[in-house]
Amino acid sequence: MDIKYRVTRSRKRKKTISLQILNESEVLVSAPYFTPPNEVRRFVQEKQNWINKTIQKHKEDSLKNKAKEYKTGEHFFYLGQSYPLEVFSEPFDNERVVFRNNRFYLNTQKNKNSWKYYFVSWYKKKAHDFIHERVDFYSRMLKLRYGTLKITSAQSRWAACSEDNNLTFSYRLIMVPQAIIDYVIVHELSHIREKNHSPRFWKLVEAFIPEYKTHRRWLKENHHKFIL
Ligand SMILES: [Zn+2]
Repeated sequence: MDIKYRVTRSRKRKKTISLQILNESEVLVSAPYFTPPNEVRRFVQEKQNWINKTIQKHKEDSLKNKAKEYKTGEHFFYLGQSYPLEVFSEPFDNERVVFRNNRFYLNTQKNKNSWKYYFVSWYKKKAHDFIHERVDFYSRMLKLRYGTLKITSAQSRWAACSEDNNLTFSYRLIMVPQAIIDYVIVHELSHIREKNHSPRFWKLVEAFIPEYKTHRRWLKENHHKFIL
């Protein structure tokens, strides 16, 4: 990838060239006044990895706390991938959110309050079908029987297993990669046998999801991305 950068030259600066990431597409290079352009270019090329990494991090940070606006071009997660949204208005079609050809379509009128609701409904339906199937699959595999299964709107927790083995999963879980969903499912099913996070519990999880530690860390680091 070619990096676009702007150079400021300073007479005060003696020797060193420094870099500053201004935003997702702009890098500022500060250089001593008489630094030849090819030296600046070489410096930027050498730092390319660092620049790419930092820009990526900036992008992720800016996604962190942004409330969704439900505008064309905005991205939404589904099974670990993010897909662009296209907003349109077709009053005679009552399907509100459609996912087709790797793109979300939101059919909406001016009533802003319902936009989020349409997406939540869509996610809930997908979560219900997908998670049900995976829970049944792992329930057979682990030979553990659960009570009921419910999809909730929980924001702060992904899933839970009650005293009497009823399982709940947040609809947000359908936004993360399948490997992570499977880990969360095996985690909750394992609570049917072990109602705690003892070493015995983690052994049970590990038997079916050997890389569970990576998935746990991933959830901790990424949970903020999956809020509508
Ligand atoms: Zn747990």
